Amino acid sequence: MVKELLSVHHLTFAYSGDCVLQGVDFTLHRGTFLGIVGPNGSGKTTLLHLLARLLPLQEGIICFEGKEIWRYSHTEWAKKVAIVFQEIPTRVSLPCQEVIAMGRFPYLRRFAREGEEDERAVQWAMEMTETWQFAERDFGELSGGEKQRVMIARALAQKPTLLLLDEPTSHLDVLHQLEVMQILRALQREGITIIGIFHDPNVVAQWCQYALFLKGGRVLRFGTTEEVMRKEYLAELLEVEFIEHTHPLSLRPFFTPLELRKRPSRGITVHLICGGGRGIPFVRKFLEAGFSLSVGIVNRFDSDEELAIQLRLPVVSEKPFSPFSEESLHHALHLARKAQWVFIVPTYWGRGNLLNLELARLLLLEGKRVFLLREGFDPRFDYTGGEARKKLAELAHHGAQVLERVEELWEK
Ligand code: ADP
Repeated sequence: MVKELLSVHHLTFAYSGDCVLQGVDFTLHRGTFLGIVGPNGSGKTTLLHLLARLLPLQEGIICFEGKEIWRYSHTEWAKKVAIVFQEIPTRVSLPCQEVIAMGRFPYLRRFAREGEEDERAVQWAMEMTETWQFAERDFGELSGGEKQRVMIARALAQKPTLLLLDEPTSHLDVLHQLEVMQILRALQREGITIIGIFHDPNVVAQWCQYALFLKGGRVLRFGTTEEVMRKEYLAELLEVEFIEHTHPLSLRPFFTPLELRKRPSRGITVHLICGGGRGIPFVRKFLEAGFSLSVGIVNRFDSDEELAIQLRLPVVSEKPFSPFSEESLHHALHLARKAQWVFIVPTYWGRGNLLNLELARLLLLEGKRVFLLREGFDPRFDYTGGEARKKLAELAHHGAQVLERVEELWEK
């Protein structure tokens, strides 16, 4: 048996001269689950339709079990590959069992009645999708999620080797999405190879083994989900920055899009002195206001550090519970010197991070503009017996500007 179930070479396709797929290459092994992700209009549906032989091949080769797909007869092909479309038919008014049994069409001889094998296949399809409960019900009366399961059952009744699905979960709520994904995983365990288009990268990260990123008709990335599902690659694909977490049960990554509104850049970099998670709202405000940022010195694993890393901001961090080293200090000085402004976040001061205020003082003396907030003088922030507040006051005395609100920096 050929190990590769499907291989696609240099697939190129155009609709009346407009090229929508260009040089698409990938191979897929039997029994795997591939998720296709890409922005709207990147050619995902076109690719799926080419794989399903719903569109004619123009350039390139698609092989299935080692044979070019168009060399299969229609009936042979319909026994190998089934497709579930994005749009669920809404006007069908038939008992679900009949809808599902339609999947047997490639196996029926003309005018022949369904036989035992057909019945067994329909039964199996209904069991896999838990749709036997709707067998007698009218398809048109089912909810969206139930209809989708019936459509998958119909495709399964074809007993396909390869199941193609175009956004099978896009119209479903979270519970029904999970139901569909669990069905697909069970099918994969039965040995069916699955290719699905999913607009939610998290679905691919959680459920698929392979991912294909399509952008502008080209394969941007193809590989195992471990290789491909990374926030920097997703940012490249979807032009959205993501924060990456680890799912506590599956231990797979999942991604939260950052809802930062992009503003025109002001061409000003601000070095943030923060820590203890106090920097987070300021990071957001500065970025939304169009500033670039650098951060430090913060302690490693501090949530300010984590956010800076997630946002890929330049950050200097020091080992937890350790005094700031000379190396960190030099690094922070280097970053801050590249910035136009320094902003001291109202944060907690202890012996460990007091050196950040020395840093600010040095920068101030070098002519850097340094800003702090009046609330930063609150004694509740000071765990140094007043030394931190004294240093803040000295900074103000030497020309650091004390603001009531950070927004004053961009409302001027
Ligand atoms: P996706 O599934 O990634 O949204 P599609 O494959 O549906 O992308 O579409 C890719 C491009 O091809 C889009 O620009 C779309 O407008 C165009 N397109 C899709 N179907 C047709 C068609 N039947 N005729 C002409 N252009 C089409």
